[in-house]
Amino acid sequence: MSEYNYKGIAASDGIAFGPTFCYIPAELNIPVCAAGTVAEEMARFETARQQARLELQGLYEVIEKRAGKAEAAIFEAHQEMLSDPALEGRVRELVEIGQTAEQALLRATEELAGLLAGMNDELFSARALDVKDVGRRILRILLGLPDTALSAVMEPSIIIAEDLTPSDTASLDPELTLGFITAQGGLTSHSAILARTLGLPAIVGMGSELLGRVSNGTIIVMDGRTGEMIIEPDPETVLRYQQIKNQRQSRLQILKVAAEQNAYTANGRRVEVAANVGEVISTRDAMEHGAEGIGLLRTEFLYLEDSQPPSEVRQYQIYREIFEVMAGRPVIVRTLDIGGDKPPSYLAFPEEMNPFLGWRAIRISLDEPELFKTQLRAILRAAVGHQARIMFPMVSDLDELRRARAIIESVKRDLELASIEFAADVPVGIMVETPAAAVLVDVLAEASDFFSLGTNDLTQYTMAVDRGNARVSGLYQPLHPAVLRLIRQTIDAGHAKGKWVGMCGELAGMTKAIPILLGFGLDEFSMNARAIPEAKHLIGKLTDERSREIASRVMSFGTAAEIENYMEQILDTI
Ligand code: PEP
Ligand code: MG
Repeated sequence: MSEYNYKGIAASDGIAFGPTFCYIPAELNIPVCAAGTVAEEMARFETARQQARLELQGLYEVIEKRAGKAEAAIFEAHQEMLSDPALEGRVRELVEIGQTAEQALLRATEELAGLLAGMNDELFSARALDVKDVGRRILRILLGLPDTALSAVMEPSIIIAEDLTPSDTASLDPELTLGFITAQGGLTSHSAILARTLGLPAIVGMGSELLGRVSNGTIIVMDGRTGEMIIEPDPETVLRYQQIKNQRQSRLQILKVAAEQNAYTANGRRVEVAANVGEVISTRDAMEHGAEGIGLLRTEFLYLEDSQPPSEVRQYQIYREIFEVMAGRPVIVRTLDIGGDKPPSYLAFPEEMNPFLGWRAIRISLDEPELFKTQLRAILRAAVGHQARIMFPMVSDLDELRRARAIIESVKRDLELASIEFAADVPVGIMVETPAAAVLVDVLAEASDFFSLGTNDLTQYTMAVDRGNARVSGLYQPLHPAVLRLIRQTIDAGHAKGKWVGMCGELAGMTKAIPILLGFGLDEFSMNARAIPEAKHLIGKLTDERSREIASRVMSFGTAAEIENYMEQILDTI
């Protein structure tokens, strides 16, 4: 037996089998060495530039095939930048005073980028990043390093990485990604959430030795439900996993058919089961898995996929398409939740000691009203004739909420003055994801039409545990009594004010939590689409009386471990 087994944090269900692709962003350190003659250095620069041109052409063709001309256009622009005579001229000047091609290129691109960034114009600032990107590409080639960007994945592979940023994950091609495994990360880091949304198996927090254990093309099996990774599996292991995969798929097929019906508890109480989505494709997937609405549309991915913010027209088209796919069902659009582990490249981000406690979500929207207004205009316009709702992330007091609502009102006035059609009656609510909001629900109810519990952040902020830090992931316990008390308090206080209370944090889709949340009287469960069939099945098996009993027993425990053990026993009996 030659196989090796390892275990990480099970982040997204599913089994995958295939070769690995190791994603290692190159460290571009320029060695200190003497320059060759001017002719030699310029010849090296020219060869590297030719190679970069070929790479960019290859990328253009791949992305054009995958996503169309518009998405690929950026690589055409990069090719043009390569040929910029100003760049070549500056490199030559620097080489002539004795610099190596690497040093000259780095300085020339930084100068050019600095010039563009200093023009105080959004478009030019975005170009500055592109110039740097092109510079990095030539530099990497000069240093003799391979292109390991995710866009270089050419065959279906399991991606192995130290960590993946949300934009890395967004750039994965679902057709070529069998799953991913990262050394860092936690259960609710955004790459893990995106994996669940895309239905990709994922394991995170595998430990820093991960990249030493596999190399490009190593054959592995991964099980995203248990967190197991098996390197060079024996044929019997592959067969066993193939069987498990088939069994899971047939069960899912049966539950999926049942999930086409609306969810009711065993005693006939209607409970909404909705999906968390990021764009149009995952919305279609949500419909296929029985979503009765969208409890969370994460709009931030739109803001992370490009070197400039999405225009009003582009947002309008995407929101509209999502509303149309949902055909009259409710859709909660969360306004941009950037910052934290999701900083876009075009906003000047301060160096932050604690980004999750820093400039994030509604705080950015209130500081950057133009960015915020563009999004609100797009949502209000697209909402005409649909059941849209607007939700603000990371609110922690009434003042923030009032200011955000005032901006909505000013956007409505502008639209009215310009005689542009929009939906005037879109309900506005907030995520309850800071402990401050959870204890202030009765106060916030004055200005919030509904509440949705964001347990991913609520757990992080209540437990003071960074949700993406593998080192402390054992302390990240959404079923901790402290978190459950805040959840119950939110639901009770919301209901006392006559407000609807849903949940769009990952807890809503966890079978161990569903009976407790039903017992608390939660109105809506919003989760990744793949979890819906199993969740509806479970809800249908529980009466309100039974789930209230379970919830009340759970509240008598003092630790998350006791709650988890008890819930495992309960699930075995259902
Ligand atoms: C949450 O915090 O629970 C949530 C749903 O938002 P996000 O995971 O995008 O921070
Ligand atoms: Mg959140």
